[in-house]
Amino acid sequence: MLSKELKQQRIEQLLSIVKLACLIFPTAITFQSLISERYSHHYLLPYGVLITAILGLIYYLWSTSTKYKFHKNYTHLIGIIEHVVLGWILFLIILLSGGITSPNKFMFIFIIITSTIQLGLKGGLYVAGISSFAILCMDLYMAKDLVINPYFENDLTLAGVFLLTAWILGTYVEGEREHIEMLENMVNYDGLTKVYNHRFFFEQLQKDFDHAKLTDTPLTLLFLDIDYFKCYNDLNGHLEGDQVLTQMGNLLSTTVASRGTVARYGGEEFAVLLPNYDHKKGSKIAELLRQTVELTPFKGEENLPNNVLTVSVGIATYPNQAKDSIELIKCADDALYRAKFFDKNRVETYSSILDELEKNIAKEDLDILNSIKTLVNMINIKDRYTYGHVERVVMYSRRLGNALKLSKDDLRTLVCGAYMHDVGKIDIDESILIKKMPLTNDEWLQLKQHPVKGEETIQYVHCLQSARPLVRHHHERYDGCGYPDGLKGEEIPYLARILTVVDSFDAMTSNRVYNTKKSYDEAIIELERCKGAQFDPDITDCFISLIRNTPNF
Ligand code: GH3
Ligand code: MG
Ligand code: MG
Repeated sequence: MLSKELKQQRIEQLLSIVKLACLIFPTAITFQSLISERYSHHYLLPYGVLITAILGLIYYLWSTSTKYKFHKNYTHLIGIIEHVVLGWILFLIILLSGGITSPNKFMFIFIIITSTIQLGLKGGLYVAGISSFAILCMDLYMAKDLVINPYFENDLTLAGVFLLTAWILGTYVEGEREHIEMLENMVNYDGLTKVYNHRFFFEQLQKDFDHAKLTDTPLTLLFLDIDYFKCYNDLNGHLEGDQVLTQMGNLLSTTVASRGTVARYGGEEFAVLLPNYDHKKGSKIAELLRQTVELTPFKGEENLPNNVLTVSVGIATYPNQAKDSIELIKCADDALYRAKFFDKNRVETYSSILDELEKNIAKEDLDILNSIKTLVNMINIKDRYTYGHVERVVMYSRRLGNALKLSKDDLRTLVCGAYMHDVGKIDIDESILIKKMPLTNDEWLQLKQHPVKGEETIQYVHCLQSARPLVRHHHERYDGCGYPDGLKGEEIPYLARILTVVDSFDAMTSNRVYNTKKSYDEAIIELERCKGAQFDPDITDCFISLIRNTPNF
């Protein structure tokens, strides 16, 4: 396919050839006639110099128009200068080749054609007008003594041809240009929201990413998703929903303005690319966008669950969190999911416990760690109902670990164990993980294998050794009725007992296939009920008071 740049380059080459031809032919003819009229020899030198200078200039114009790429803003100006110079040279040649009797007057047509193609209808008409005016003035001036001026009359027709050519060609060129512009808009913009589309986003992402890498500058990517939009559509209808999307596109592009690129990633999701924005500056823009949307009135928003239309935002930055553009998207997407799960209408940054671990581990463990990271991601994909479960359990573990005043090493082990605790689920059939009906005995036995399988998966990773007991024992019960080893009370490692509490709390408070989501208050009642039987009572008490005393837990 012919790219826009290549097409432009070919047109420029063609125009240069035309310009070159319209100067070379009359110059050669004039030179020849001057010699044939047997001018005395001392005239030959200045004419020779003049013609060499003209050809030199032609060469210069030719080479600059093809070799150098001027900045876009200057190409129009350069086109104007080029045609003014060409016009003067041609006029000079006409004067030298006989003035009113010159056979080269029609040569202006070439400059009119090139200027119309290059500068558009207006530019072409200007050049045609000026050329006609110059020729007619010359006719009037040089033949002022004639009563009937046949040159003037003939050249009036020529002027008409000049203007008509510029007008017809110019109209065609403008029409073509508008058509191409419309096609480009269709290819690059989203029809509904008028921001860039998914295709353009990827093109721009690659460009911005390459630039960031080359110049060693940061690049921030935001993913925005409208909260409860399905609900909005159900309440107000899809047409109103479309209006909201249009309003949202407009709002985002005016707020982001020249700082970056806004695109509709799909459905009710938007992406914002912020070149040269590091994480701190990017977060400010993300928060600004979130607040702007929250404060902007939208028709029918009062019926939504929070009585206001909001967005959740995920943010990721190169080079801190991602090594390539695809990873940047994954990280921003991950952060967005987290924002959704933690109550919506908020900005979340991508962070992974494994990335934190990577800083402190030996090189030989790095590959294995990356494989485990992939495993955890695969479990997330396999078990859609528990998406974000791992990340939430990590967050709750960190909070509870701090509340229980764990040492730095223990806290790290707990967080690490929280990240890995479900890694053994990778071997379990997806149909079991998402089954709505009660599990059969066989299926239960399979599911109960995941702590053991998980421990086996990480047993050879040096940096994860301390997390092994947590993975193995996170389904043990305080009363000894848990699995896989039926450990009881203090026999269960302390950190595993902590993990059991937070893991169960998240299972209660998130949507699962086999049960409905509990509110935090209902989950607290359940924790109280199972305290001493399933959960360590002291740890449970500490966790309950943590939930009660932390606003927006
Ligand atoms: P959440 O708060 O978790 O983001 O839930 P949600 O309802 O916003 O998200 P979900 O992904 O469940 O639904 C997205 C909805 O967006 C479903 C679809 O009807 C709506 N949607 C996607 N594209 C368009 C569109 O072009 N016009 C309209 N009106 N609605 C759209
Ligand atoms: Mg969505
Ligand atoms: Mg949504």
